Amino acid sequence: MTRRRWIAEHWDEATATLVGAQAEHMARVLRAQPGMEADVVAGGRVFHAEVAAVTLAKDSSEVRLNLVAELPADPALPVTLALAVYKFDRMEWAIEKATELGVAEIAPVIARRTEKHLAEAAQKRTQRWQLIAREAAQQARRSDVPLVHEPCPLAARVRRPAAGARIVLAEQERTTTLRCLVEEAQEAASEEMPALEIAIGPEGGWAPAEEALFDANGWRAASLGPRILRAETAAICALAVIASCLE
Ligand code: SAH
Repeated sequence: MTRRRWIAEHWDEATATLVGAQAEHMARVLRAQPGMEADVVAGGRVFHAEVAAVTLAKDSSEVRLNLVAELPADPALPVTLALAVYKFDRMEWAIEKATELGVAEIAPVIARRTEKHLAEAAQKRTQRWQLIAREAAQQARRSDVPLVHEPCPLAARVRRPAAGARIVLAEQERTTTLRCLVEEAQEAASEEMPALEIAIGPEGGWAPAEEALFDANGWRAASLGPRILRAETAAICALAVIASCLE
C-alpha cells in the first residue's frame, strides 16, 4: 500500500509546510512529533520528509517538515478536460474521477445547454471544485494536484490558441474514434508526450452552433462508441482511452 501523501500548502527547496485540516490531522490525530517521517507533495514533486516542528493552535495549526529525499513521481496525463457545467453532484463526481485518472487541468465551461441556474452558481463553486481535486489527488497518491480553472463561456475556451491536439467528444460522431486522434497526436509529437485538450458537453449535449464553433476553431470531433454516455461516464472513458495510449 503506497504511503499516504500530504500535499504541502507552502514549500521551498528544503522545507514544506502543512496548514489547515492536514496540519490538524497530522498534529492532533497522528500526534506528529519532530522526527516523524512522511511523504510530502510539494510543487508537483514528491519528497520523503521528516517533521521538524508542530505548532498546534486554535485555527492556525502548522506542521513544518524538512525535505529529505525526492521520490519518483508519476507525471499527470498531459490532458486538459474542458467539462461543460451540468448537475453539480454528477459534475463533482466527474472532477474526482478525472483527478484519479491523472488529468492535468480541468476547465469548467458554460455551454448553451448548461442550465441557467447552474451557470450562475458555477462561479461560486470553483473553490469547492479545487478542494475536490486536491482531496482526490491525495487519495490517488498523485504527485500533483490538477489545476481547476474558473468557469468560462465555452467560446472563450474553444477560441484559445491551441497548445496541442484539441478534441471534442461528440455523441453524433460515428467515424473518427478518440483512440485514432490520440494516436495521430502521438505521431505528430514523435518522442514528446502530446498535449491534449478534450471537451465534454452537458447533459443536453452540444448545440449545433457549438459544434460549428469547435469545427471553425480546428477542434476534431471524436466518438467514444455507439452508445450515448453520461458526461461523467464520457470523461472517465476518454481519460482511460488516452491513458491506455500514453502510459
Ligand atoms: N444529448 C445526448 C447526451 C449528451 S451526453 C443525448 O442524446 O442524450 C454528454 C456529453 O458526453 C456529450 O456532449 C459528449 O461530449 C459526451 N458523449 C456521450 N456519449 C458519447 C459518445 N458515444 N461519443 C462521444 N462523446 C460522447
